[in-house]
Amino acid sequence: MLDELIHETRIAYFSMEIALQNQIPTYSGGLGVLAGDTMRSAADLELPMVAVTLVSRAGYFRQEIDAQGRQLEHPHDWDPARWASPLEAKIAVVIEGRIVWIGGWLYVLQGHMNGRQPVMLLDTDLDENSSEDREITHYLYGGDESYRLKQEIVLGIGGMRMLQALGFEIRQYHMNEGHSALLAVELLRRYAYVSEDLRPGEVPYDIPRVRELCSFTTHTPVEAGHDRFPYDMVQRILGDVIDLATLKHLAGEDNLNMTRLALNSSEYVNGVAKRHAEVSRTMFPGYRVHSVTNGVHPFTWTAESFIELYDAHIPGWCHEPELLIRAECCITDEAIWQAHCEAKAALVNKVSALCGVTLNAEIPILGFARRMTAYKRPDLLFSDMQRLKAIARQRPFQIVMAGKAHPRDEGGKGLIETIHRHIRDFADIVPMAYLPNYDMDIAFSMVSGVDVWLNTPLRPLEASGTSGMKAAFNGVPNLSVLDGWWIEGCIEGITGWAIGDSAESDNNADARSLYDKLEHTVLPLFYEDRAGWIAVMKGAICKNASFFNSHRMMRRYATEAYIG
Ligand SMILES: *Cc1c(COP(=O)(O)O)cnc(C)c1O
Repeated sequence: MLDELIHETRIAYFSMEIALQNQIPTYSGGLGVLAGDTMRSAADLELPMVAVTLVSRAGYFRQEIDAQGRQLEHPHDWDPARWASPLEAKIAVVIEGRIVWIGGWLYVLQGHMNGRQPVMLLDTDLDENSSEDREITHYLYGGDESYRLKQEIVLGIGGMRMLQALGFEIRQYHMNEGHSALLAVELLRRYAYVSEDLRPGEVPYDIPRVRELCSFTTHTPVEAGHDRFPYDMVQRILGDVIDLATLKHLAGEDNLNMTRLALNSSEYVNGVAKRHAEVSRTMFPGYRVHSVTNGVHPFTWTAESFIELYDAHIPGWCHEPELLIRAECCITDEAIWQAHCEAKAALVNKVSALCGVTLNAEIPILGFARRMTAYKRPDLLFSDMQRLKAIARQRPFQIVMAGKAHPRDEGGKGLIETIHRHIRDFADIVPMAYLPNYDMDIAFSMVSGVDVWLNTPLRPLEASGTSGMKAAFNGVPNLSVLDGWWIEGCIEGITGWAIGDSAESDNNADARSLYDKLEHTVLPLFYEDRAGWIAVMKGAICKNASFFNSHRMMRRYATEAYIG
């Protein structure tokens, strides 16, 4: 199996997390889903790629929510042998002066058309290793700083050696976020000069050659979000893989900053939306930061009822989602509404099964699901309960929410509790449900089954956001703060609606704007002008889904980063 997948020169895509399918918990959120959609589009477009990630045997975590609304975290163990086959190679890296063996698994991502893509899941849980080292690839985003550095050594350096041992010929290395930047260190070692050729003061590595081989996509618009490690820790754990002066030259004088290392090792660097690229240019002056706005995988995120509609009226949409611009004229309003009602009924059933809340399919549902953390402001909707109740008495609506908080994000966990308090206080006026254990499957039901997709991040902290793009494939309009992709996607009243303007965020002003839009624009349109409502649904399909998809994204990476 692997032999067939190796014969072609490939692009190696490195990511700490990847959402391969719902039963495989090797992802925590947007970054992993994007990595999965990247590989799914690569399969459909038959781009020769190979993904490298960690096996994360204990997953991120399984979320339970207790009666008080508190998040409980359980390990989410999975058995790689059930889904993947063992790799035939074993390689080693040195960590804390010990040899750590790395094996792994081949997962073959089967596209829904003809393509398939190899995914390497690196695994240190081998008999040869000490019990401590066997755990390095267990917990996604678990452990402390030194645990994270060990994982990044396995991913970056181990991943490179594994590709080489298996015989892959790689022409481009793509780092999805800075976690894998140590791959550049391994490349430098391969392109080291012999010392007699060096002039005094010259770095002993062919840095330009390494830069030609690497591309880097940054996802984090705040400095504090980037991994950095003190050099004494680096020396202790990583040792002297390359000389310290060169490492500091590339990764920063004070700390090993993974983002700096990635930036300095990559000829092509991009942010994940236009605004995010601008913010990144300000954060990293002197670097040329391109922008490739994210997208989502068409087939994966479209409900069955809409797949049938698109197949019937827009053949080829799955390969060329830009054809969806035709949806406006060639699909009737009745057919769009019918397809939506099917997806909505499925969500109503799921909500009832998962948390016993009965929703009414005649009444609009607002959806909000994402990582529960302060900057996403999941509580903005509840900032004035009196006003919210008054709006609901006039024109009723319902709310479905979901999301995990990182186990160490106390603020995020507090938000989940607060939201559950609102659900109880609110029950008689606005029926609300919080679906536990947000994952790909719940995301799919929600983005396709709600009537409006809500997003209220603090600007400019949402680098792109992708759940709203999934909604668009299902004719679900966004009501969102103008940040990330929505700055590019929003045409007011045509594809959805903006909350606030694009200036600095202000909680009070944003909350007021959200209530005003709900009360005066969104709910009246839903109840009093169904044709007008369906026109916005079609606007989301024609003008958002046709563009914000991962096929367009991958065609751009292919022509601008991989070949260009
Ligand atoms: C799409 C998705 C995300 C990312 O959503 P954002 O809008 O970017 O926050 C996170 N988690 C899951 C499970 C998803 O499917």
